[in-house]
Amino acid sequence: MIAPSPVITPTPCSMLSMRGQGVVKGIAIGRVAVMGAAALEVVHYRIQSDAVQAECDRLTGALAAARDELQNMAANLPDDAPREMGALLTVHSMLLDDPMLAKQTCDLIIERHYNAEWALTTQGQTLSEQFAVMEDDYIRERGADVRQVIERVLRVLSGSTALLVNFDTAQTDEPLIVVARDISPADMLRLRGGRFGAFLTDLGGPTSHTAIVARSMNVPAVVGLGNIRALVREGDILIVDGSTGSVMVNPPEAVLNEYRRRQAAYADDRAELGLLRDAPAITLDGVAVKLQANIELPEEVEAALAAGADGIGLFRSEFLFMGRPELPTEEEQYVAYASVIKAMSGRPVTIRTLDVGADKALDGDVTVATNPALGLRAIRYCLAHPEIFATQLRALLRASVYGELRILIPMISHMHEVRATRQAIASACAELDARGVAYADNISLGAMVEIPAIAIAIEPFVESLDFLSIGTNDLIQYTLAIDRGDNEVADLYDPLHPAVLRLIARTINAADAAGKPVAVCGEMAGDARVTRMLLGLGLKEFSMHPQQLLDVKKEVRLAHSNALRVKVAAALNRADSIDLATLAA
Ligand code: PEP
Ligand code: MG
Repeated sequence: MIAPSPVITPTPCSMLSMRGQGVVKGIAIGRVAVMGAAALEVVHYRIQSDAVQAECDRLTGALAAARDELQNMAANLPDDAPREMGALLTVHSMLLDDPMLAKQTCDLIIERHYNAEWALTTQGQTLSEQFAVMEDDYIRERGADVRQVIERVLRVLSGSTALLVNFDTAQTDEPLIVVARDISPADMLRLRGGRFGAFLTDLGGPTSHTAIVARSMNVPAVVGLGNIRALVREGDILIVDGSTGSVMVNPPEAVLNEYRRRQAAYADDRAELGLLRDAPAITLDGVAVKLQANIELPEEVEAALAAGADGIGLFRSEFLFMGRPELPTEEEQYVAYASVIKAMSGRPVTIRTLDVGADKALDGDVTVATNPALGLRAIRYCLAHPEIFATQLRALLRASVYGELRILIPMISHMHEVRATRQAIASACAELDARGVAYADNISLGAMVEIPAIAIAIEPFVESLDFLSIGTNDLIQYTLAIDRGDNEVADLYDPLHPAVLRLIARTINAADAAGKPVAVCGEMAGDARVTRMLLGLGLKEFSMHPQQLLDVKKEVRLAHSNALRVKVAAALNRADSIDLATLAA
């Protein structure tokens, strides 16, 4: 749940091992193929005053050539390319037109007389620093897009079309483990079709493109390894464990054999899990559990369907709004929401209204909050920007005619926010009525339980809402006063703390008593290690990343709900965090 910082450990048998953040599960054994980084081999020189224009033209030409290359790739995607790939390539080609890259780099050539490569890497450095201090993980990681686009232009400037993997693939039949500083979507595309066992990068986090694309290619990946490129050589043998994020360099035969065994067992496990896709999620004592999917973009609905999800438990709509200069229009939002609702064919689709503000700032919003996590975010932001909220609500209402829509409000802490939301929905309905546009009359309204205040005083909220969804990521952060993005206190971010569990239990009990549905949609819901505990708290609805769904289903089917309820109830009154081993079968 927490990103571990890279760890390097020499093991007793002098085998080097490292740990980063495992973002795609699975075990790979193969040989290192190091990917080059053009930015590191750049020449720096000053140009004469009369050569400034020609140098700017050289830069503009390279930007155009790189853009053509990307557009070409996007237009000729292979049929089996991951669905995200086209969008990612388009984002990169758009970045090449952005003035922060084109104009400001030219300015450096004009003002400082840098050669184009030097100007480009200098501007890249400035932009990287700006992205690095962004509070929001997703936006911070978009700095990687800028870096990757710059790498591409540098390659064009240097006249080198040769990419990347230096290792002579003819030398081995073993899978190649690609080791890189970072991997752009375009590079990922060029790597497709190869015998790649895993992707390892110095940089990146769970929402980096390496992670997104590797996930869609189902290739194990570990990111954020710090400096793996300096620690391994071409042809080294590596073991990669995408579940734990560990990487072992040139392991002895005994360790290799052990991991070959684990690799085979993992493959058997996945095959067996696949069989569970259509099996019911019912505990041994007959409690039926709903397993739903969390998505961030409409395209991900396919993965949800492939995993057999009972519905969409959380569509984080803010991803439609971020990383772009203008807000999405009502029409654009309507198309996105409608596509998900239609694809789910009548199964419930829970769309969370815009959860931005302060740390997850929209482009162009320069407000700096004193304490972003406690600032004007989510529903507070929406109520303070009624036009943005009204546009989203109209789009949601219009999309509701295609299935079962549930509207979820993030960061609710006061009852007057619920009333104001209902009023905003009523106004949006009135506007659509005036336009003669249809919407469903059975839309449920629910709230995220992620601020302790609402969990403590839950009863009136249960009363006035149709459903609840517990956002454990934030609930843990606010209950334990631990910034969820701050590595310094990451060890204190404890999902099993009795205070957290009691708040979850309170919420579930209150919802049950009122006969209202309640789900958990934070990361805990997809962590199969805590499935039994959540069942013991009485949870019957889970929402998670589609990739985690079958692991959780397996746990549900092996659990005895009543026995777990007794054990967990006893643990709630203890001072220390619950010991999961006591819940094992
Ligand atoms: C949560 O807080 O648990 C949650 C699901 O919302 P997010 O992670 O988007 O803040
Ligand atoms: Mg949250």
